[in-house]
Amino acid sequence: MRAEIVSVGTELLLGQIVDTNAAYLSKLLPEFGITLHYRVTVGDNEARLAEALRLALSRSDLVFTIGGLGPTEDDLTKETVAQVVGDEMVLDEESARQLREFFAARGIEMPKSNLKQAMVPGRGRKLPNPLGTAPGAAFETQDGKVIIVLPGPPREFIPMVNERVAPYLRERLGTRSGIIKSRILRVAGLGESSVEDKVKHLLKNANPTLAPYAKTGEVHLRVTAKAATISEADALIDSMDREVVGVLGDHVFGRDEETLEEVVVKSLVEHGLTLSLAESCTGGLIANRITDIPGSSDAFLMGVVSYSNQAKMDLLGVDEQLLIDHGAVSEEVARAMAEGARMRAGSDIAVSVTGIAGPTGATPTKPVGLVYVALSAENGTVVQKCQFGGSRLDVKLRTSQTALDMIRMHLIHNAT
Ligand code: ATP
Ligand code: MG
Repeated sequence: MRAEIVSVGTELLLGQIVDTNAAYLSKLLPEFGITLHYRVTVGDNEARLAEALRLALSRSDLVFTIGGLGPTEDDLTKETVAQVVGDEMVLDEESARQLREFFAARGIEMPKSNLKQAMVPGRGRKLPNPLGTAPGAAFETQDGKVIIVLPGPPREFIPMVNERVAPYLRERLGTRSGIIKSRILRVAGLGESSVEDKVKHLLKNANPTLAPYAKTGEVHLRVTAKAATISEADALIDSMDREVVGVLGDHVFGRDEETLEEVVVKSLVEHGLTLSLAESCTGGLIANRITDIPGSSDAFLMGVVSYSNQAKMDLLGVDEQLLIDHGAVSEEVARAMAEGARMRAGSDIAVSVTGIAGPTGATPTKPVGLVYVALSAENGTVVQKCQFGGSRLDVKLRTSQTALDMIRMHLIHNAT
């Protein structure tokens, strides 16, 4: 089945927003055996939208539109689709009631213009919107083609896709053969070429395929399987997953959307261990990533951003002589920062980072990208010396990846 996405919005054409919705939908379609042939973007203009829709119907079986379901003048997607497929819009009583309730609950009278959001296709069907006032719709043409109309705001779009579109497609397409499914295996602590080298023998595999992608501070391996059913695809992916883990071991830290900070927080909480941080060149990035994870308060006690030498002495008890003898970016100071943080926070584990993020600040012996990461725990302190490349932000991100991965590895090897 050939599909096309028509994203509607002048904001998209002006580059003011990025089409994250289309990207989200594009990733999902292969699971249904749907091949996306075109992605088109058109502004909030009725004539051009109608033209884009006619073109889409001439070459695709399934068309998705994104955006333009709101109550205002420039929201004209539903009306234009109805006109192109030759359907009449009818008022849906249930949607109208929900709209009235939505406004009543907020103590405001419903503007007349909002009622158009309750209009649904006469021949097609509505796709209720769990989080917004505008339902989506599935229109059908005389010759059996379908246009699925979806709202623009991502917080409405994503649940609509997951809860309405996916079941609709499953029902319509049944268990037709030829689905494609992928899983990302996320790898930390190894560079791209080293990962590629280790999995070289698997890269030639025909089904599932394995493809490496370098990201900042981690490598992704995409496993893609073609099969008749989802469960057959899953079985193929599982077996490749096991092969990769057999070669890369603990370096595989997560799958799909799972992040390093998620894995670290989960593991700390599972082991009942606490963490503190002393950050210099990352400026709080590691603490920020840790606290992005719900439940991190069960494990994370304290994060200090000790940027100046004075702060390293005052807040972490780093000995002034160490700073004079070795400089702030040194193994000795990294170690003292981690030990100081661990003692002051009373945490089981403390991690410190100190380095030169650049582009300035290098000395003849200390180049940009030189970073020390230390981890202090009950059984002692270890320091890792790193030399990172890239921009200032790359160095910060890579440093935070290394620090998080050091915690993860420490928990794997030391916590029981
Ligand atoms: P509303 O009821 O808010 O008007 P709508 O369905 O009419 O919703 P639009 O007016 O097209 O949708 O877009 C509303 C907002 O949703 C945009 O300002 C933008 O922030 C976001 N948005 C729209 N389309 C996309 C897209 N393709 N990808 C990501 N975000 C989008
Ligand atoms: Mg709108």
